[in-house]
Order: sequence, then C-alpha cells, then structure tokens
Amino acid sequence: MTAGRQEGAGCDRAETLAEGARHMLYDSAIAGKVASHYAGSRLAMILRNGIRLSFGIAAGALLLWTAAAQQQSAKPGDLGFTDTPILPGLKWHVHDPDRPHPPVVTPGATPYAPPSDATVLFDGKDLSKWAQMGKGADANKVIAPTWPVKDGYFECAGNGDLMTREKFGNIQLHVEWSEPADVKGTSQGRGNSGILIMGRYEIQVLDAYKNPTYADGQAGAIYGQWPPLANPARPAGQWQAYDIVFEAPKFDGEKLVKPAYQTVFMNNVLMHNHKEVMGAMVYRKVATYSAHGAEEPLALQDHHNPVRYRNIWVRRVRNYDEPEK
Ligand code: MG
Repeated sequence: MTAGRQEGAGCDRAETLAEGARHMLYDSAIAGKVASHYAGSRLAMILRNGIRLSFGIAAGALLLWTAAAQQQSAKPGDLGFTDTPILPGLKWHVHDPDRPHPPVVTPGATPYAPPSDATVLFDGKDLSKWAQMGKGADANKVIAPTWPVKDGYFECAGNGDLMTREKFGNIQLHVEWSEPADVKGTSQGRGNSGILIMGRYEIQVLDAYKNPTYADGQAGAIYGQWPPLANPARPAGQWQAYDIVFEAPKFDGEKLVKPAYQTVFMNNVLMHNHKEVMGAMVYRKVATYSAHGAEEPLALQDHHNPVRYRNIWVRRVRNYDEPEK
C-alpha cells in the first residue's frame, strides 16, 4: 500500500486482485513462449488452454479493480500531501496540494490547428495582425501589409519583410509555408524566405527538395550557424510545417547573460534540439548578439521569392509554477 492511499477493504481487495491479474498476464506470456516452442505438440495445446483460462481470470480481476477504484470518492489526501519532503531548491512539498495547476487547454481538432490559448497570426483571411515598413513616401512608417492574401494563404510580394504588430519573447510557434511550384533559381535563390524570430534570429525557409546549397543555409537551418538535423522537405508546391520553441536571450544592459535557444520541428521531424543560438542572423559573418527588448515582433523575410504562408499561430511559453488565474 503506497503512502496516502485511502485504506479500505474494497481498495485492498482490488489491489490484491489487480496484482494477481498482473502475475497471471506475466505467467501467460511465459507460457505462450513455451507453447510456441512446442508448437503442434500436446504440451502446446495444454499450455494454450491454460493461457485462455488465465486471460479470463485476469480480465475479470481487472474489471473488479476498476469498479472498486471508481467507488472510491476523492478525499483530502488524494489531492496531495504536506507531510512529504520539500523538493530541492523549490518551496513545494513532493505532491504539494498547493502547487499551481497548469491551465486547461483544448487541443486543436487536427494536429496543426491552433489550441484554445494560441494567438492566431493568420487564419487564412487577413493580415490584420501584421505590418511592414513603408517605402518611398512612406519610408520609416509602419504600414499595412501589401503582401497579397489569396485562397487561405498569403505570399511574399518582394517589397519588404512582414512583422507582427504584437511583440513576443519565449514562444511556441507554428508556421506553414510552401515553395513556389514554378521552380526557379538555384541554392539560396530558390524560394528563399525565413522565420525571423524577434526580427533577427532566423530559421531558414528555402526549397530544400533536391536543391543543393550550403548546409547552414538550407531549410530549417539556424542560418549561418547550425545545419538542421534532417531534411524532411516536401517537393515545391506542397505545404511544409515548422513547429518552433524559442527561448529568448537575456541581457543585463548591453551584456548578454543568457543566449537564445531553438527547438525546431519541420513536418514533425526534429531539426534542432534546444540548440544554442550564436547571435542574430548575418550573412558571411559570425553571428553576434546586440541587446534588445524582452519581446520583439516576429518577422517573415522577404527575399524576393514568392513563398507562401498559411496557418500561423503562436503561444507564449509559461514559466513553471505560475499562479493559477
Ligand atoms: Mg532566408
């Protein structure tokens, strides 16, 4: 009997039965191996009959155990303990009943659909969550995006990066993108764009399907720093998905005290596993950090290729043990 388990005849009996059931299932597995060894023999037939009987008893015991467990109503000890040790470095007891619970989140109906607490940055309809820097008469002004929206996606227009109107720090980000089906150019000139987290830490977007280029510049690369761990690119014209967990860097004044980290999946394949980022994206140089805000806009790079985007959502990453709302 484990500490804190409610004492009761029903529970004791159920646990004994469940333990017996577990042994019988184990014995059945052993007997099954012996039976297969003696396949076709009389011994095999006897063992198989024994297995059927054992399974019947085991299933019955498990049903009884489940029913007994359901009859146990929740009691104070079920919700945690204060007579347990304090966890190292924390203020919580092991199984502390006062430790904050995480908020309930309803997952999306499909794997790529946004969960209930996501900020949806593009749902196929408009770019109201985005902006871009103007040019010409609008130079140095923030203007509404000019990238065209069509049929549930939007497309790079060749006139400047997009940036979110909201700022973000530590995030979980989902982005889907598609390379131009009319395949043109080579290497970095084929379908180049990029996810510029905090406007500067790039996860490269590029046609990586049979398109040789330098490893730290291919799709999924932490551009100029770390090649991805895999190349799960689909052919141009098909939709690709990034799921990114980004840990923002921390600065004390101008001094970097904690670098950024990237965890990236492309089409559900791991590309980076909590990889330290060397600094802001830069071409042909070693990346470095320059101090910036704790939150900055997310940007999409315009590299003059008509790359398409759809279904973009972001979640702010919580800290452990934040108070419940
Ligand atoms: Mg790029």
